[in-house]
Amino acid sequence: MPSAMKVRRVPQRTCVGCRTTGGKRDLIRVVRTPEGHVEVDTSSKANGRGAYVCARQSCWEEALTKDRLARALRISISADVRDRLRSFGEQLEPVAAENVNV
Ligand SMILES: [Zn+2]
Repeated sequence: MPSAMKVRRVPQRTCVGCRTTGGKRDLIRVVRTPEGHVEVDTSSKANGRGAYVCARQSCWEEALTKDRLARALRISISADVRDRLRSFGEQLEPVAAENVNV
């Protein structure tokens, strides 16, 4: 059994793009702050309602195009914010680390 299968106590999160669950480290948290802003929470410590997206371009695209992220955060995402999040997603690897084997 690969050692990755034995990891314990890693919270499982669901990507709003592809709906795959992954360990916290494979997913990027997006948070709706108490002020109503939507931020990429690279520290994973920001307050607010969070949603998770894989570190993968296609998932960001999916999450934004189909408004899944907006739904997960229960907020409407303005065009500005959407562009910003999309640019963030575009910096990511087209395909995430191949060792992610869910
Ligand atoms: Zn995903």
